[in-house]
Amino acid sequence: MDPLVRAAYVTQNLLARCFGMALSVGLALVLAAVQSGRLSPICLWLVLATLGLTLATRIRSRRRVATDSVRHDLELFTQLVLAVRAGLLLLGPTIGQSWSASVYVVLMLAAAFARPGAAFGTLVYAMALEAAALGVTNPSQILERLWPQATLATIFTSLNFVVFRAEIARVRRLSRERIDAELQRTKDAARSYRLLTTPSSAVERTGPLPIRGNEDRALSAAVEEIHAASQFALDLLRRALNLKSVVLLWLDSGRQRLSIHEISSLHDGIKAGPFSAKDGVIAAALAQQKPMTWVGSRAARHVPYYSEPPPVGGVCAVPVVDHGHARGVLVVDRESTSEFSDQEQELLQATTRFLLRAIENERVFVQLEAAKIEQGKLYRTAGLLAAATTEVQVIESGVAGAREFAAFDFAIVTLFDKTAREHEICAASGEGTEQLVSRRFKHNAGLVSMVVSNRHPLPYRGDYDPIRQLVFERGIDLPVLPSLLVLPLVVHDRALGTLILGSKRKSAFGESVRPTLEVLASHTAVSLANARMLTRLEELATTDGMTGLMNRRTLLEVVANKLRAARRFGKPLSVLVCDIDHFKRVNDTYGHEVGDQVIKGFADALRRIKRDIDVVARIGGEEFVFLCEQTSDQGGLQLAERIRAELEAMRFTTEKGEFQVTSSVGVATFPAAGQEWESLFRSADEALYASKRGGRNRVTLWSSKLPGVAA
Ligand code: GH3
Ligand code: MG
Ligand code: MG
Repeated sequence: MDPLVRAAYVTQNLLARCFGMALSVGLALVLAAVQSGRLSPICLWLVLATLGLTLATRIRSRRRVATDSVRHDLELFTQLVLAVRAGLLLLGPTIGQSWSASVYVVLMLAAAFARPGAAFGTLVYAMALEAAALGVTNPSQILERLWPQATLATIFTSLNFVVFRAEIARVRRLSRERIDAELQRTKDAARSYRLLTTPSSAVERTGPLPIRGNEDRALSAAVEEIHAASQFALDLLRRALNLKSVVLLWLDSGRQRLSIHEISSLHDGIKAGPFSAKDGVIAAALAQQKPMTWVGSRAARHVPYYSEPPPVGGVCAVPVVDHGHARGVLVVDRESTSEFSDQEQELLQATTRFLLRAIENERVFVQLEAAKIEQGKLYRTAGLLAAATTEVQVIESGVAGAREFAAFDFAIVTLFDKTAREHEICAASGEGTEQLVSRRFKHNAGLVSMVVSNRHPLPYRGDYDPIRQLVFERGIDLPVLPSLLVLPLVVHDRALGTLILGSKRKSAFGESVRPTLEVLASHTAVSLANARMLTRLEELATTDGMTGLMNRRTLLEVVANKLRAARRFGKPLSVLVCDIDHFKRVNDTYGHEVGDQVIKGFADALRRIKRDIDVVARIGGEEFVFLCEQTSDQGGLQLAERIRAELEAMRFTTEKGEFQVTSSVGVATFPAAGQEWESLFRSADEALYASKRGGRNRVTLWSSKLPGVAA
């Protein structure tokens, strides 16, 4: 960057950063001047108006950008202190005095809400203002009077700081816990209703659920819906059959315990559970999968959920059977000792069917929702892949896409070089795999090679055995994780390489994610092929097919930039034009093919000599241009000599024997030999022909005194 431009940037940045605090200090000085009588009290209105304006802009900009920093807090609270003091001064000494404690309110707010640094910065600022005020009104007693005030304010701010922060942290923790507990409940309910079956989904994840977009929202909506429907059915049942309680108990995964999922009861003392699934009519109903009743004096023993059993005359338990499996039991009890009639039992069974249908409906809803979300992710990933134009971009988008569908701890992409029959690890991320990048290995019997040959994902069913299965080749080790998946990147029945995913979780790549990952891998492969084609097309358009050097058209584009830079920075730019001597003879003697070999050999020599910033182009049959930035006449001449010597030293062997060729070079340097490309090139060409006329196999620097050059 230009030093001037950089200086401007730095100044601008500095101004933007310091403006707020400079304003606080400047306005404080105005305040002191008003107090000392040097400025009219009207200025206080000006101070307040300025502060109001700053506050308004602050509120507006805060909406646009997150400005959470100590500096911003400090600016805000010092300006508030300033506003309060200006207000107090306006109120006059009598009223102002009695309101002077209001500064403490600002200090309290700063202690509670500003960042620690800003809170104490505000305290220092308030005390500095106080000192200034004392200095104006009572200079002799400044220290005596400031000391107690400063101590008091410091204690006040520190106390507020400690108390408020602790309280805020406590409230935050409580609400966090509440949210976690609520999410955990949803998660448990969803799991017990078996609303989701895919392991990648929210339900299967362990630990407290983070709040995560649509998937979790759909899940809690479903759980809520089931709850509402069940509650309605249970209430209705209780009223219709004149029951004391109607309870839906649900079996845990071990099928040993039951917990209350829904309850409608007239009684208050209900135990939280869980309860044994092995006792009384409940156990019988679950075991036989049909309604069981108990009527009589000992009915209360069959009801586990009362802490203080009320008088119970009869209990009926109806199993909730889903696809042949008992999932829970609907238990009802009442005071009356009359038998549950067939009609009543039928009604209870109908209720369990209704509950199951409500669950099934939500299951379908959640699965549809999950499918929709999955589709959206695939669509987004496909968009990213389509937009990627380089190999690196495609690989990045492909791995990012895979992350949407499966949780993994590392991802590796290998590419297969068909001609060399070798694989290369071209990208790796996560879990100590980075050092594998650019390792190459032979096509062998390892997993990657087999996946490329057979175009099917491995290991079979995702069961990876690190002892017996080799991924790359011996000596290239992967971190040993329980789950591994090698996916082929297939285009037109050909595997370009593989995408390898590894996870610390067992069975991380089960049937629920594999098909999606396979689709993603083939999308990635197509994009990879497209990116390669694009790169190839670009190469074809910009390079010379025979030598791989830049072609004439691209040289002209590059030259324009180089000349612009040389002109701006006042640096020289050397142009060398090189031509093989008596090349027609080579063609005539050894044939065109040998001629081609000579051209390629010369191109290789030029490539060897070229520095990174130099540019070499083939501009004609056996004519090349060499551009060197920041190189003067002498530098250009030395380089030309090296080129000439390099070709002279080369030997070409043919059936007709060995031969050597020489070259001539012309050198011209910007700006002396030409200001524009046309004139510069013409000068270099003139120098080249001077070399040719001088006997060939030599280099010539352009000068206006060259024979044939018009001065
Ligand atoms: P001079 O020393 O004056 O340069 O003599 P020269 O014979 O090299 O003359 P010139 O540079 O004019 O000759 C260029 C010849 O290169 C003409 C053409 O037959 C041959 N040529 C151009 N392109 C190719 C190519 O791609 N392959 C081969 N083998 N020959 C080429
Ligand atoms: Mg020639
Ligand atoms: Mg030529």
